[in-house]
Amino acid sequence: MLLVKIGGGSGINLDGIVSELAGLTRPFVVLHGANGLRDEWAAATGVRLEVVESVSGMSSVVSDEAAVDLLMATYAGVRNKRVVEAFRRRGVNAVGLSGLDGGVVTGRRNRGIRVRKNGRKMRVRDHSGKATSVNVSLLRLLLEEGYTPVLTVPIAGEEGEALNSENDDILALLAAELKATEVFSFLEAPGLLADARDESSVVASLAPDALEAWEEKVRGRMRRKVKALGRMFALSRGRPLRVVLADGRISHPVAAAMEGRGTVIESSSGGADVRETDARDRAGRAPSEAPASCASELDVYGKRGPVLVEGRGVRVRDREGREYLDFIAGHGALVLGHGHPALLAAQQRQGGTLAVCPNSFATPLRARYMDALAQTVPDPLGKVFLSNSGAEAVEAALKFAVLLTGRSTFVAATGAFHGRTLGALSLTADARFREPFQPLLAGVRRVPFNDIFALCEAVDDTVAGVILEPVQGEVGVYPADAAYLEAAREVCMEHGALLIMDEVQTGFGRTGRLFAFEHAGIVPDMVCLAKGIAGGFPMGATVVRRDAHIPRGLHGSTFGGNPLACATALAVLEELERGGWIARVEEKGARFTERLSAANLSRIRAIRRRGLMVGIELRTRAAPMLPALQERGLLALAGGRRTLRLLPPLVVGDADLDQAAEILRDCLA
Ligand code: PLP
Repeated sequence: MLLVKIGGGSGINLDGIVSELAGLTRPFVVLHGANGLRDEWAAATGVRLEVVESVSGMSSVVSDEAAVDLLMATYAGVRNKRVVEAFRRRGVNAVGLSGLDGGVVTGRRNRGIRVRKNGRKMRVRDHSGKATSVNVSLLRLLLEEGYTPVLTVPIAGEEGEALNSENDDILALLAAELKATEVFSFLEAPGLLADARDESSVVASLAPDALEAWEEKVRGRMRRKVKALGRMFALSRGRPLRVVLADGRISHPVAAAMEGRGTVIESSSGGADVRETDARDRAGRAPSEAPASCASELDVYGKRGPVLVEGRGVRVRDREGREYLDFIAGHGALVLGHGHPALLAAQQRQGGTLAVCPNSFATPLRARYMDALAQTVPDPLGKVFLSNSGAEAVEAALKFAVLLTGRSTFVAATGAFHGRTLGALSLTADARFREPFQPLLAGVRRVPFNDIFALCEAVDDTVAGVILEPVQGEVGVYPADAAYLEAAREVCMEHGALLIMDEVQTGFGRTGRLFAFEHAGIVPDMVCLAKGIAGGFPMGATVVRRDAHIPRGLHGSTFGGNPLACATALAVLEELERGGWIARVEEKGARFTERLSAANLSRIRAIRRRGLMVGIELRTRAAPMLPALQERGLLALAGGRRTLRLLPPLVVGDADLDQAAEILRDCLA
């Protein structure tokens, strides 16, 4: 369990921290401050914050009633909700709480700050208190249901009253009660400084035993922090614990903290494997010990290098702890990124209800999903067959086309990719994939892509179907012209052939519309879907016209339409709608390519894009660029020989897009 404290100073890179945390797969709890905002609001509203110096030399704000109101408005109000908002924008289902809510943190009211006034010692009593216990059951409940708690002050006093309290003391209790193995505390400093005025004097590492001595060496707020850290380690009673006091102002604060930049305080049994305790394999090995290559694997793919062990949002992490922006995103399948809480929750719910149900029995969830999918496509489309992959969706379309027309000739385009099963492979253009498997389906006519004349020549009354991708992805992101698709629609109609749109890569918002055929204003007779349909969970679908009739028993699938996949796919549709993600795809894609174009890189020959389906055509081969991009933290694909292909999750944030553009600019410069 990771516990993160985000300091409240105005220099903290809150957005950076949130977007990096959103990329983690392991659960975490956030505790944050807001002193910068509180001070701004105090100045703006005229609330006077009285600061006193205690006899021990620490300065404190007196928490009178006005100060506590201001605390609630800024910490538990604006800042807390802004942090929640920032997480939710990145697909993390955050829940904002103050210590007061549900009594998550309770404490004892202070007897008063001992101050010296006019030469006399006296106590100033206010509404501040010391945190004494944490109600972890509520936090656990939230974590188990896939929520991320975001906590701040005030805490609840013994009489239920709101009390201001030191966040560092709360952090110590939280770490102990949640049995945290790692704590990142983001400060407006590069770590614990040996000399408070010299930022280069960072103490790189510290044994917990040394904290007491450091309490004497440091002053002000840092003294409180060090004292609270001592308490944290005392409460952890020798449990493995690694605390990093890290710079919260820099561009990648979380990555830096993970690397141990800042001050690392570690109990002797803590350390690198602490982070991996949750991810051991069946042999009990941590990811870094497990072998990278697998002798049992039939090696038809080849491997690209990093051994990936975690993914969250737009980022994945390898077993060495390096993070990558995942612009491959499961070949475009992860429209909502890795580990989206809504999908996980749907899977958990359905998994515990009914995970498997043969298609010879009805089940309400599957019916609900098919109705929902049918409603996303225009008339006359509206009957759904569910399968498990893109190739299967295409395979079903071919069989249905044969059954519906009584013909067996197909027309496909040059550059097309429709999958690798024998039927789909017959339509795929690349001879390298097809030749070893000849003879494939007889009667496939190949026409040049985007050539209206050639298409019209090829379609006659013997053709069962014309299959086209609205944007050819594998060959390097080439959109079909709207006029080409219109002509395809017309010529199919004229000859009684079926127009099949392969939306396996373009579907579910990738191009800025739910389906890419919408850009051309046409309606095909069949649509093949997969990849984004269930946000990365294996699923395929073939949607046909409502009036289509396929005799029973001629096609089927054991796993097609299994309730787990349907629950996930339903959650994808709901989340795409709820988050308004598709509406922002075009703007995000444009931002990304504008940043790239602005660099005027001579190695780039052309940029082709539809929404967040991006092809960067180079003057040189694309594949050799992939390791360099990977090295700099960006996972990308090649499309054809010369094109870099990027398919980021639709939930990608501006900062991640800018970072990816910067990496590309660096590599291509
Ligand atoms: N059709 C298109 C347009 C594709 O891009 C792909 C896969 O990349 C497929 C079909 C095959 O899908 P799958 O790999 O799920 O079988």
